[in-house]
Amino acid sequence: MDGKNARMAVQRIVSPIDNSIVAERETITERDRAAVLDRAATAQREWRAVAVDARITICERAVSWFEAHADDVAAEITAQMGRPIAHSPYEITRGFQERARYMASLAPRVLADTDAPTKEGFTRFIRREPVGTVLVVAPWNYPYLTSVNTIVPALLAGNSVILKHATQTLLCAERWAEAFAAAGMPDGVFQVVHATHADVAALIADPRIGFVAFTGSVDAGHSINHAARERFIGTGLELGGKDPSYVRPDADLVEAIAENVDGAFFNAGQSCCGIERIYVHDDVYEAFVDGFVAATRTYVLGDPRDPATTLGPMVNASSAAFVRDQIAAALAAGARALVTEHEFVASQAGTPYLGPTVLVDVDHSMRIMREESFGPVIGIQRVSGDEEAVRLMNDSDYGLTASIWSRDVDAALALGNGLETGTVFLNRCDYLDPALAWTGVKDTGHGTTLSPLGFDAVTRPKSFHLRFP
Ligand code: NAP
Repeated sequence: MDGKNARMAVQRIVSPIDNSIVAERETITERDRAAVLDRAATAQREWRAVAVDARITICERAVSWFEAHADDVAAEITAQMGRPIAHSPYEITRGFQERARYMASLAPRVLADTDAPTKEGFTRFIRREPVGTVLVVAPWNYPYLTSVNTIVPALLAGNSVILKHATQTLLCAERWAEAFAAAGMPDGVFQVVHATHADVAALIADPRIGFVAFTGSVDAGHSINHAARERFIGTGLELGGKDPSYVRPDADLVEAIAENVDGAFFNAGQSCCGIERIYVHDDVYEAFVDGFVAATRTYVLGDPRDPATTLGPMVNASSAAFVRDQIAAALAAGARALVTEHEFVASQAGTPYLGPTVLVDVDHSMRIMREESFGPVIGIQRVSGDEEAVRLMNDSDYGLTASIWSRDVDAALALGNGLETGTVFLNRCDYLDPALAWTGVKDTGHGTTLSPLGFDAVTRPKSFHLRFP
């Protein structure tokens, strides 16, 4: 090994199920990095000349590859990050395909030239050009659902893509590569790197990278911004959330309870747009809380490989310790727990196995109502009406989504106008609709994926202004 290769590190996937090592990989060397960037640039020059329909065909084949391998891919998700096997297949059999196929359906129209109004003696149009090579840095919590949002549009638009996945789910990056290889993607158009944070910064600094799509924590988002500071390239930063829900007195309570419980605890609460805090109108507070508590008690916490398990471990013991600490601080400050982790036999201090906790008598002086928990805990706060609910929903450093539960569409529209979030839901939560822009405000970051706007970041406009001789 020469001096340049000496900086390689080893990344290990430690399963939250039982601390076993699922896989380990060496990170790229400086020489690898240069070669990956070269290959990406060379391949992209040819890929951008491939017709959009042919790009769609290859992406469609890759999506079908995932369908055909859904069982294996789901088991691998469970082993890597602990989601119950009862839920892991949905990651690739539902939203993943819906988003990839929707973006593919938009591509011919959205990527076509935009003609300027007719002007005698001129041809004028705006062409969307690929930005070159797109670097995608992905998180473990929804390893395919998050990465698909940029990988597919970037490729459809004629870019090459380099994917660096979270260490926790690095096998997902390799599955992506397998899918594209099986789909007939030309060499170098899609590549995977196992990389340290320093490697990511070095990639971003390289002039061959044209855009960085990052999904993850606020702290890491700052690091990405910092790494890109000397470059005039775009960064998409899809960061944290503390998404609120507001239950109005006219809500369908049965539906509101079921959906809010699922929104709070699916994936052990490790969802960027999961419900993290709930405000309930006085008039329905007792009924909502009673129903919420009863539904929470139906969860089965345990080994996620068991098909009967509906709540798996958190991703690691330190994330669970963070949530336990938030809960302890809230209790010390006067909150009451109506459901505690101790009701769940498999919940064990010092491990990632953490039963769900339902807290009431909470307020915004408590971390639990302001700091992202990213775990199976919920604070439910009583409110007197719409005005107080909107004030509290907006009292946050984050702004990803907010959901309203009501039969009154006009009221929801009016409330929605005042909410400082990227998405406003009515009678729905924790969902990405590919027809709509996925975006956030405040510390949730900047940039947009999905919808026609999802192509903006991975393309740049070039104006053709031709006067006939
Ligand atoms: P994370 O620690 O920030 O990691 C995300 C990705 O960034 C991983 O690939 C990680 O690699 C890499 N990374 C971390 N620090 C880095 C640095 N300083 N420089 C370069 N790369 C770095 O986040 P996470 O814990 O995996 O994910 C949870 C967070 O993501 C939550 O805050 C959640 O809300 C947010 N999220 C947001 C959305 C959204 O759409 N807004 C969607 C999903 C998740 P390593 O694993 O190798 O460290």
